[in-house]
Formats: sequence, structure tokens, C-alpha cells
Amino acid sequence: MLRECRQMTPALSWGLPDLTPQEPIHAFPNFSYQVMNYTGKGFVCIGDAHRFTDPIFAYGIFFGIQEGEFAVDVIARLLSGEIRTNGNPFADFEKLCDQGNDVVEDVIGVLWEFPLAFQRIFTCAIACPRWIFYPE
Ligand SMILES: Cc1cc2nc3c(=O)[nH]c(=O)nc-3n(C[C@H](O)[C@H](O)[C@H](O)COP(=O)(O)OP(=O)(O)OC[C@H]3O[C@@H](n4cnc5c(N)ncnc54)[C@H](O)[C@@H]3O)c2cc1C
Repeated sequence: MLRECRQMTPALSWGLPDLTPQEPIHAFPNFSYQVMNYTGKGFVCIGDAHRFTDPIFAYGIFFGIQEGEFAVDVIARLLSGEIRTNGNPFADFEKLCDQGNDVVEDVIGVLWEFPLAFQRIFTCAIACPRWIFYPE
């Protein structure tokens, strides 16, 4: 991989002349994680702070920003007094974030568990987007 990096990107050789691994290279079959109860009175986690599923689909930045926007909305309503509760003011936020992450995890799970079915679904989605996304 290091040799290919050098060949594909000559500038890498100039910027990083020594590509000697600093530790043995490990393979991780799965590095996803999920934290439960990541909000409460006076605290809220967003993005990778509570869940990471997969880097390949490249949605993590979007989720982090989107969850940040949702959290800001709750915090603003808390500070303005619009939300008054003795419970967890972020309970709905947590539920919404979990729903979004669950959908992504299911989609990615189908890719890894049933790659041929996944390919078929997305080939159909491209050919007939209305059929997949707006079934009647
Ligand atoms: C290999 C890989 C490839 C990826 N590719 C993509 C991609 O192409 N597109 C995409 O959208 N997403 C991608 N992701 C996912 C994306 O990087 C993350 O989902 C996203 O960066 C999460 O943002 P975050 O702000 O929650 O966390 P982070 O980006 O991890 O930010 C947390 C920050 O907090 C700092 N920090 C940690 N502890 C402390 C502390 N105690 N005090 C102060 N600071 C602290 C960290 O240094 C870090 O800067 C990839 C992830 C990986 C691992």
C-alpha cells in the first residue's frame, strides 16, 4: 500500500519521505460503536461522540453537522424558557438521532451481509427512483 501511495501520488514522497510504519499494521474487522444514554440534564453528545458506523459511505460529517443543528435548536429553546422540564430535555433529540443512525446502519448492514441484493436494490433505484423512493 505504501508503495502504491508513492506511485499514485508522487507529492506524497516529497512531503512524507519516510513512510516506515511506526507500529505493526493491524486489521480491524469492525470498529463501529454505539453509546447509549448520550444526553441528559446539562449534557449532549453529537456525531462520533455517541456513534460511529462506517467510514465508507461518507455520511459522518453530515450527521455531525445535522445533529449539531438539532442540538442547538433544543439548547436555544431551553435558554429562552420555551422548554421547561425536570426530565431529559434532549430526549426527543436522542430519539431522532437514533432513528437516523439506525436507518444508515441497516442500509450498510445490507451491503455487507447481502452485497448482491444491495447492488440489485441500488441498480433498481437508479433505473426507477420513483418505484424505490415513492412506492404507491
Ligand atoms: C477512515 C475514515 C474515513 C472517513 N471518511 C469520511 C468521509 O469521506 N466523509 C464523511 O462525511 N465522513 C467520513 N468519516 C467519518 C467522519 O470523519 C466522522 O464521522 C466525523 O469527523 C465526526 O465528526 P465529530 O466532530 O463528531 O468528531 P471528530 O471529527 O472526531 O472531532 C472530535 C474532535 O475532538 C477532539 N478531542 C477529542 N478529545 C478531546 C479532548 N479531551 N479535549 C479536546 N478535544 C478533544 C479530537 O481531536 C477531534 O478533533 C470517516 C471516518 C474515518 C475513520
